[in-house]
Order: sequence, then structure tokens, then C-alpha cells
Amino acid sequence: MAQACVLLKYGELMLKGRNRGKFERYLREAVSHALDGASAPVRVSQRPGVVVLSGEIAREELLERAQRVLGVSVVQPAVRTGRSAEDAAGAVLRALAERFGDPATAAPRRFAIRAHRRSKDFPLSSEKLAAYLGGRVVEEWGWPVDLGDPEVEITVEVDQREIFVSLERHRGQGGLPVGASGRALVMLSGGFDSPVAAYRAMRRGLRCDFVHFTGAPLTGPSSTYKAYALVRQLDRFQGGSRLHVIPIGNAQRALATSGAGHLQVVAQRRLMVRTADTLAGELGAQALVTGDSLGQVSSQTLANMATVEDAASRPLLRPLVAWDKNEIIDEARRIGTADVSTLPDEDCCSLLTPPRVATRTTPRQLEGVERRLEIDELVPKLLADVQVHVPGTA
Ligand code: ATP
Ligand code: MG
Repeated sequence: MAQACVLLKYGELMLKGRNRGKFERYLREAVSHALDGASAPVRVSQRPGVVVLSGEIAREELLERAQRVLGVSVVQPAVRTGRSAEDAAGAVLRALAERFGDPATAAPRRFAIRAHRRSKDFPLSSEKLAAYLGGRVVEEWGWPVDLGDPEVEITVEVDQREIFVSLERHRGQGGLPVGASGRALVMLSGGFDSPVAAYRAMRRGLRCDFVHFTGAPLTGPSSTYKAYALVRQLDRFQGGSRLHVIPIGNAQRALATSGAGHLQVVAQRRLMVRTADTLAGELGAQALVTGDSLGQVSSQTLANMATVEDAASRPLLRPLVAWDKNEIIDEARRIGTADVSTLPDEDCCSLLTPPRVATRTTPRQLEGVERRLEIDELVPKLLADVQVHVPGTA
């Protein structure tokens, strides 16, 4: 009995007591989302500290899907075999032959066996099992053992009912499974930053909803299409994402005609945050997330950040606050949002931008502008026009 499978491992060390049950429950949900639409059925089974995926499905597809799951630190293709040293030896030798061909002609490689027992009632200690398997490899392949700097590392894991053998391991996404930390509402524009901020928030266990403000009716639908495409990419990491689109063009014009002047940009941002904050309440989200990075543009000075966040009643999280633009763009490429972010759009923020943007605003100044506009009545009006999309399913 030998069967190909993929092991998903998570950092067990930080998981104690009740946290662990919660973590594993969210992880199971995340795994089943990552397997949605797979080309063949996949069996999922949970062992202590490990989730095992197996089925008649191409290895590449299973690996790609497994590598999307947030909360998984290592993705390890493996062969599952019977629970005896002899079965394990057979699996190790077959795996080596599959990878390196004929022992008579393959070039020698320094190797190490790493044996662990997740279940301690196995008759051999880990050291003895490793010594036995190492001996068999030396016999068959004539390779030198090198525990310090091996070229080939053979991992052997003894479980309750079986043994897993693997020759490789890949990095998983890391972080925490989506939902384990609660819910957040991401303020999503069309640029590079906010989709990366959303990914980092999800990776810390926040299930995310999205809100995008458009300049409609003063601008066309291009920014909505971008937001839609971005949420589709981000949905691969969580499933069930909702995108809320809210037109604020008329409100922006009202701010401009009421004389916001060089406070226009910060006033717009406060209006967005205030509206998003109310929407977050309706959605049960405990925090807002933005792609702000300190000092990146004039609206992102420390003073302006403070003025903007003053308009929110819940925490405003900025996962990228200390990131450089090139770091953000690299991450956008890695998570698959960069291509969408580079598309042109009509961004509502560049609409009605004054020639000089105030960099040292205070909430008091902004409250003055907002009083002229009766901002409290404006928010429910904006929310009445919200359109909800579910981009992941289309
Ligand atoms: P991004 O690359 O995310 O567009 P940016 O560098 O363009 O960010 P700003 O335009 O100052 O910076 O926006 C800062 C943050 O405010 C964005 O990351 C986003 O979270 C939020 N935001 C800006 N415009 C919008 C919008 N139209 N709808 C929703 N959120 C927005
Ligand atoms: Mg932007």
C-alpha cells in the first residue's frame, strides 16, 4: 500500500488549548474552500498538527491549491505507506528511484534521513528507524550520509495508522486561517496597495469584505471593473468575498462647492472612512483596513492619517504602514493582483484634487468643512446606493 498525498503543516508551537480547536476549525474551512472546483474529489483528513490531502488528482493541481491556504506553513508532497519499518524502507527506495532513476548509474548524493514519530507507540525509536532506513539507502544506492548539509533530505513521519515519506517540502502562505481573528472591511481602490493590505489582513486571520468608492456619476465604471477583478484574485485566499460599490461623485462635488479647498482630499477620505465604518457595523466587521503607507503621498502624512482615522469608530488597520512601494509591488506580483492594479482607471480620488493638498490637517479643521455639508445625513444616502457583488463565484 503506497499512495501519493500532500501534507499541510501549521506552526503548532503557538497553538495552545482552546485556540487550537478554533484554528483547526477555520483551517478545515479554508482547505475545503481551496479545493472548491478541483478536477477530481480530494479526501481531507486531520492528524495532530497535519492535514492530509489525497485523491486521484494531478499532483501539480493539488500542490497549487494547497499552497493557497492561509495558516499553512509547510506544504509537503508525500507517499503514504504501511506502518512498519519494512514498508517505510520500500517507500523510501521507490521514491528515490522515481526521482533519481537507476541506482547503478545515478550520481552519488549526500543524504540524510529525518525520522519523527507523531505517535509514540511505534516499536522503534526515531533514531533507530532513521538508522535502519539510512542503512537500506546506503546498501541500495551507495550514497554517503551527511546529516549536516545533505543534498537529499528524506523525511519519514510515523503516524497512528501509517507512515509518510517525502523528499521535498514547500513553503505555505503562513499566517493564520481566514476567520480565526474575526472580520474586517477592506477599503479597496484600484492601486497596488490596498489589495496587498487585504491579503496581509486575511493572512492574519481576518475574513474580509470589500468596499470600493467610485466617482460616479462623474466618472465611468472602469474603477469598479478593476475592484471586481481584484476581489476575484483575492477571493482565492478566502472564498465568499463580497464587494460593496458606492458612488460618491456627487458628494465629492458637494464638498468642492462648499469650499473644502486644500482640504478636499482629506475631506473625501474622511467621508469614505465614515461611510465604510457604518457599513462595517452592518456587516459585523470589527475593523477597517486600508493600503496606507506612511509618507507615500501627501494624503498619507502622520497628521492626515490621524485626521482620517478620527472619522472611524472602529480600529483602522494599515498593514502596509511601514512598507516601501517596491516591497508592495513585489508582493502584489506574488499574490496575483499586480496585473489588474496596473490597468488604467478613472480614480475618484484624482477627481477635484486641489493644486495643493494640505499635509498637516486636524480633525477640527475638517469638522468645519463637514458641518457645511451635514455629513451625518450624507452617509445613509450614500449607503442607500450601495451595490453588492460576489466576484468569486462568477
Ligand atoms: P492604493 O494603491 O491602494 O490605491 P494609494 O497609494 O493610491 O493606495 P491613496 O489613494 O491615498 O493611496 O489611498 C489610500 C488608501 O485609501 C487606499 O489604499 C485605500 O485603502 C483607501 N482608498 C483610496 N481610494 C479609495 C476608493 N476609491 N475606494 C475605497 N478605498 C479607497
Ligand atoms: Mg489609489
